[in-house]
Amino acid sequence: MTKYTNKPLKNKTKLSTKLVRAGTLRSNFGETSEAIFMNSGFCYDSAETAESRFNGVAPGFVYSRYLNPTLKMLEDRLLEIEPGAEAACVMASGMAAVFASIMCSIKPGDHLIAGKVLFGSCHYIINQILPRFGVEVTLVDGKDLKAWEKAFRKNTTHVFIETPANPNLELIDIEGVAKLCKKHKAFFIVDNIFASPLLQHPLELGADCVVYSTTKHMDGQGRTLGGAVLGSEKFIKETLLPFHRHTGPALSPFNAWVTLKGLETLDMRMERHCSNALKVAKFLESHPKIERVVYPGLPSFPQYKLAKKQMKAGGNMIAFEVKGGKKAAFKLMNGLEIIDISNNLGDAKSLITHPATTTHSNIDAKERAAIGIGEGLMRLSVGIEDADDLVNDLKQALK
Ligand SMILES: *Cc1c(COP(=O)(O)O)cnc(C)c1O
Repeated sequence: MTKYTNKPLKNKTKLSTKLVRAGTLRSNFGETSEAIFMNSGFCYDSAETAESRFNGVAPGFVYSRYLNPTLKMLEDRLLEIEPGAEAACVMASGMAAVFASIMCSIKPGDHLIAGKVLFGSCHYIINQILPRFGVEVTLVDGKDLKAWEKAFRKNTTHVFIETPANPNLELIDIEGVAKLCKKHKAFFIVDNIFASPLLQHPLELGADCVVYSTTKHMDGQGRTLGGAVLGSEKFIKETLLPFHRHTGPALSPFNAWVTLKGLETLDMRMERHCSNALKVAKFLESHPKIERVVYPGLPSFPQYKLAKKQMKAGGNMIAFEVKGGKKAAFKLMNGLEIIDISNNLGDAKSLITHPATTTHSNIDAKERAAIGIGEGLMRLSVGIEDADDLVNDLKQALK
């Protein structure tokens, strides 16, 4: 049978082409779209082949908990679109990726520093799980480089940040924190989920490892869960992969395939996400019933200079507060006709959530208030619908 291999992409191939084609492994059937390899195991032509695959001498797949052709296509495509990455590992969810990126190397007696504003589950891992295993944790005001400087100790081994942070969109200066991590030899992990690989390149700014939930913009249409960790070949191969292989947060090949299909349109969607979000943020900012709007693409954003420096655009996430607290927020959300109430984000559909009672309800009320997650705060993930329809929907709900 003819072998229909695809030709490798040239070095200077542009992003949009990579999003559609990078990593494609075509089988002997010459299928146009990437195939779904929905198999758990692989057969070997001899016992010797099995032996040499298991000891890593021969290339090839051994078990889908380790890797599978569809997962490999996704890893290779992600690798091509993440500047500075040498290797990738995909996982079952963003949280599996966050957890593995920390747990694969941390040990009792280590000290981890994180920005204060974190997604609820990241907050749980750092503040509930890590201390149970003898890891010391410090949370700092992520905006304040001086606070970062002060937080480092002799035993600081890991630093974890989200920027923009979920849900209040605070930014952390990646380059500034990276310099401190280098000085103190700490491993620097950036959760780049809100920005996506299209808007921000943490590895180029000095991070050691970048983490994604492919559930968000990469799938982009609310269908699958998935996650990914990217970094140096040494970190991924020697430290992360053994942890991943033996603990089992493997991504389903079907979900990997959906994500591959999602990536094909990521740049087009992100463009629309960002231009829509800017229009919506400007509208909200001009509305008398709105207390404040936080959007990295607005000149009124407190860290606008940093946003311009480390992000290519403002993204699709907006945080805003309506006058009148929780009651007014709920009233606004219940009055929406197009925008759905949902805690997911990065979807083609615009989604709104009330973090204090959903995504961040596991953090106690005092701490929430201290990090700016007030009772009136809403987080809006702007979709790719028509911007005027979204503005009009908010306008009628605010009446
Ligand atoms: C959604 C999200 C995660 C977790 O991703 P899942 O795919 O839902 O597990 C982690 N960090 C941030 C900032 C997120 O928004």
